[in-house]
Amino acid sequence: MSDHTFSLQFLGTGTSVGVPMIGCRCPVCTSADPRNQRRRTSVYLTIGGWHIIVDTPPDFREQALTFEILRVDAVLITHAHADHLFGFDDIRRFNTIQGMVVPVFAQNETMAELRRIFSYIGDAPKPGVYRPLADFRIINTPFAIGNVTVTPLPVEHGEGQACGYRFDYSNRSVGFVPDCHYMPDSTIKLLQGVDVMVLDALRHRPHSTHFTVEESLSCLSRIGARRSYLIHLCHDLDHATLSNELPSGVEVSFDGLTVDI
Ligand SMILES: [Zn+2]
Ligand SMILES: [Zn+2]
Ligand SMILES: [Zn+2]
Repeated sequence: MSDHTFSLQFLGTGTSVGVPMIGCRCPVCTSADPRNQRRRTSVYLTIGGWHIIVDTPPDFREQALTFEILRVDAVLITHAHADHLFGFDDIRRFNTIQGMVVPVFAQNETMAELRRIFSYIGDAPKPGVYRPLADFRIINTPFAIGNVTVTPLPVEHGEGQACGYRFDYSNRSVGFVPDCHYMPDSTIKLLQGVDVMVLDALRHRPHSTHFTVEESLSCLSRIGARRSYLIHLCHDLDHATLSNELPSGVEVSFDGLTVDI
């Protein structure tokens, strides 16, 4: 019997500084609406018995505790910015719980940065030292995690590159691109037919490394998913206000939201 579970949970939906932002007293940072409290961006997918984390932000430990993450079969990293990576050390709890080395997937440059920053991490235990155990796998083409097909989605993110991911399982699919200011046609093509899309939308004012809400909506209309969610939001965006401004089929994500694909 096959497991039909296919869900995505938002563990964090905020931009690099999080919301509230340190030292800010603006209406969104001081809002009573819990949906305006945004940890750094990460999602947790449960697909056919596999548990996949995309990005390990500085908030990763707190996210794992709050949302009761009990298993991680694979870690995928979109790019090596601090807000997506600096919680990586906490993967070691899952080595202990599961008694296994955890596979970690990223594109070449991101993996090189990850291994430079976390140079003490390897795939073999060292007596007397408690450190994560990772099996680093560089990916450039679609790959499999169990019965899940994962397709890397190259996008431009400021002067560097980032990578989103598309997940296909049992005739259903979701795309996740958290950091992007330009999506090449070749990547839009890879996303066509996706059921659910999650895309970067920092704020309304232009930014050099992120889509604005308007740019995100225009990219989403080209992708054409049935349902879409905006992510990586800054404190310019109030959840309720933005929700009312969006076309049907596009929603604002918030920490803890679980979407069945
Ligand atoms: Zn980011
Ligand atoms: Zn603020
Ligand atoms: Zn980034």
